[in-house]
Amino acid sequence: MTSPQRPILATALFVAAAASGQAQTLPDPELVKVIAGIKAIDTHSHPERVLADGEMDTEWDGFSSHSYQAQLVPNLPANVRPHSHLIVASWRALWGIPDLEWSEEAINKAMENKRRIIKEKGDSYPAWVLDQAGVEIALSNRITMQRGLTSPRFRWVPYVDHYMFPLSTAKIRSANPLYAGFYEGLEQRAKGLHSGRGVKTTPPALKEWLANVVTPDLEKYKREGAVAIKFTAAYFRPLDFAPVSAKEAAAIYATFVRGGAPGPDEYKKLQDFIFFEVARTAGRLQLPVHIHSGPGGGAQYNLSGADPLLLEQAFINLPETDFVILHGGWPNSKPATALLRKSNVYIDFSGMEYFLSPRNLAEVLRYWLDYMPEKVLFGTDAYPEKLPHAGWAEFQWVNTRSAREALAVALTEMRNDGNITTDRAKELAHMVLRGNTAKLHRF
Ligand SMILES: [Zn+2]
Repeated sequence: MTSPQRPILATALFVAAAASGQAQTLPDPELVKVIAGIKAIDTHSHPERVLADGEMDTEWDGFSSHSYQAQLVPNLPANVRPHSHLIVASWRALWGIPDLEWSEEAINKAMENKRRIIKEKGDSYPAWVLDQAGVEIALSNRITMQRGLTSPRFRWVPYVDHYMFPLSTAKIRSANPLYAGFYEGLEQRAKGLHSGRGVKTTPPALKEWLANVVTPDLEKYKREGAVAIKFTAAYFRPLDFAPVSAKEAAAIYATFVRGGAPGPDEYKKLQDFIFFEVARTAGRLQLPVHIHSGPGGGAQYNLSGADPLLLEQAFINLPETDFVILHGGWPNSKPATALLRKSNVYIDFSGMEYFLSPRNLAEVLRYWLDYMPEKVLFGTDAYPEKLPHAGWAEFQWVNTRSAREALAVALTEMRNDGNITTDRAKELAHMVLRGNTAKLHRF
């Protein structure tokens, strides 16, 4: 849609910007104000449950092995290192210390106040953190929800990767030693599923694995308040899920359930089939499927296997299932834009705030918003990293703030170019920060 004034308006603004010597757009104060006031819905985060002294939260991510975390810490993106002005700003806002600048002493003071506030707030602490960030609801990607993480503020998004590991991982572990820890943990979780049901062995046929274990679990998640499900698959395999016939998958399962272990090719086919079945069931239950894409923690992480374009076969063959590409597929965020044309595909920018400045994030957002604004979802990927200077609360605050800033820049530019009106810019801000994800998850 074009307005007759558009070329004149765009030219006038261009001349004004050139005359002022301003290279970059400053966000419109009116839009900034509107955006700051929107109670956001965070599409993807890992909030920390309330912990007693000395307790650890081991349920916030999908792997029993947290070993990759240790490798992540020295490689923290600049935005979240201790000296980052964003982190220091979060200490001021959250822990109530005005005029604080970075120093060892300042960290200690901030963390002392943090501990005091956590104690004072008790079970209401997680919701208090959301309040400080202006977030109404956090979709919470965790194994279990637990203390302080209650609906309606926190809505559950359980992990489902382990359903793809019903058989022995011995052979794929030796073929992929870097992923061995993940395979072992996921196989153990899958084993726990039937022992938890009082069944001693893995069901003899794939049909039964799906009908007696996988489907009832997904239905139970739905009953227990889950609003979506999450695959973290890119941490341990490429995202090239492809259609496999039921006959072929059943034959692989039947062969190895009796003993031995499938090799990488056989296991891939079986996983592809189960992925499709899980996603199909999720579609029937109206649970959107969230999929990790783009960057991941750990030196062994295979970025090229996390390209969201690899998911195209799944998107095409499962039209009744809605998918959310998490983390914007960065650094392939711009190519991923074209996937949004498919009616069942959405994209969130959770975690991109860690990697990009608000200015660079604005550029990506603009790319998406120019094309399919109703498919773009805000998220933070805030998680309980155990750092001396920051964790879930600081990340929730910093990433929400950076997202608002990026959105203000992107919408101001779109408005200044004459592509949208100020009213439409405000409408898009509401859609991105809450409306789109609310609609998709049927809130
Ligand atoms: Zn995440």
